Amino acid sequence: MKPPVASVDFDVIVVGAGPYGLSAAAYLESRGFVVRVFGEPMAFWDRTMPAGMLLRSQRPASTIADPRGAWTLDAYERATGTPAQAPLPLSTFVSYGRWFRERLGDVIDPRTVAGVLRREGGFEVTLADHARASSRRLVVATGIGAFQQRPAMFDRLSPEVVSHCWAGRDLRELAAARVAVIGAGQSALESAALLREHGARVEIIARSRKLRWIGAHKWLHHLGPLSAMLYSRHDVGHAGLSRLVAYPNVIARLPLALRDRIRLRAIRPAGALWLVPRLADVQISTGRTVNEAAMLNGHGVRLRLDDGTERVVDHVLLGTGYRVDLARYEFLSPDLLRQIRRLDGAPVLTAGFSSSVSGLHFIGATAARSYGPLLCFVAGTQFASRHLTAHCAA
Ligand SMILES: Cc1cc2nc3c(=O)[nH]c(=O)nc-3n(C[C@H](O)[C@H](O)[C@H](O)COP(=O)(O)OP(=O)(O)OC[C@H]3O[C@@H](n4cnc5c(N)ncnc54)[C@H](O)[C@@H]3O)c2cc1C
Repeated sequence: MKPPVASVDFDVIVVGAGPYGLSAAAYLESRGFVVRVFGEPMAFWDRTMPAGMLLRSQRPASTIADPRGAWTLDAYERATGTPAQAPLPLSTFVSYGRWFRERLGDVIDPRTVAGVLRREGGFEVTLADHARASSRRLVVATGIGAFQQRPAMFDRLSPEVVSHCWAGRDLRELAAARVAVIGAGQSALESAALLREHGARVEIIARSRKLRWIGAHKWLHHLGPLSAMLYSRHDVGHAGLSRLVAYPNVIARLPLALRDRIRLRAIRPAGALWLVPRLADVQISTGRTVNEAAMLNGHGVRLRLDDGTERVVDHVLLGTGYRVDLARYEFLSPDLLRQIRRLDGAPVLTAGFSSSVSGLHFIGATAARSYGPLLCFVAGTQFASRHLTAHCAA
């Protein structure tokens, strides 16, 4: 005989109200699940990304999926009279996410989850105000905000002189400053462009020998049906690879080493092509590594590079990316964390984004090691929400 199942408040609790959490809630609700999403809607995009940013993803890849296909970016723009722009401004995307959230009604609770415990028949979450809620399943959709990667040499320096590109710093405060931007990905390159436009003196210092640009082979996108064979509408990865990345279920069946190669290739540091003219008068030092960083009598930072040259700047902006490590999600209790099978910090997932803890699921970038790079982008919300919901319903 089955043991009695303890009563719970919800069928599913989703932690995190970014694109993945919102989309999952829409799909789960449509299948009759009683759902609650905890977290302030679109907080990561609104609070941490630089104001004035443009989305790197193309418009068709910037829609948050809903089961009826009714809450698309286009539908939002039509409903609100917002002009359709490309590239898409950050402020429009944040407003779109909030519009999507309004359609979900009172499923969303903006409180932060402070702790998660396993309990009989499911999970119990403790909120920041000490209130509690329980559910049979728990979906973690808390994104990459906790995973910022910072070279250790910067740990000793004051946050006044070193910050991560997505730590929410207002770049206008650095308008009169000398700034070294470290990195060669979209965050680093776009932050450098914005800083320059605000009047800062900027140098980009990048390890890679040359900067890479997304969409550099424009002509490959204008070959009609042939282009459609080379690129999926999700637009993640180069010609050919983009098609494979569009099928996370196929990627999940590949050997780990091949999966890793595909993921690293598809999300290697690169900037959107429209950044090229905006960086025209920014100094760019490629093939260079920062070996040492030291405070200068409280005013600025001295950087020593691997070629022996030095830079003295007022601020260092780190565009040094992120690395998934579940241990950095403070809300996962050490006991629960121990029960989650992990590979280099990322959860090992099986069908339905299921972790080794029954009823505990991870969607978004934490799932990319299992399902491939599409899960690092908004374009992956459709696959994630469909697949998760079908699994829960079954
Ligand atoms: C600078 C930058 C530019 C990017 N540009 C693009 C782009 O153009 N296109 C694209 O597709 N992707 C882009 N990305 C990737 C982007 O992070 C993901 O596409 C997207 O955020 C994934 O959505 P998500 O819901 O998984 O995560 P998020 O949007 O990060 O949402 C997770 C939410 O969970 C919340 N949360 C965390 N902990 C808790 C807690 N304990 N309790 C409650 N809530 C919590 C966070 O505040 C956050 O709001 C960009 C990333 C960066 C850093």
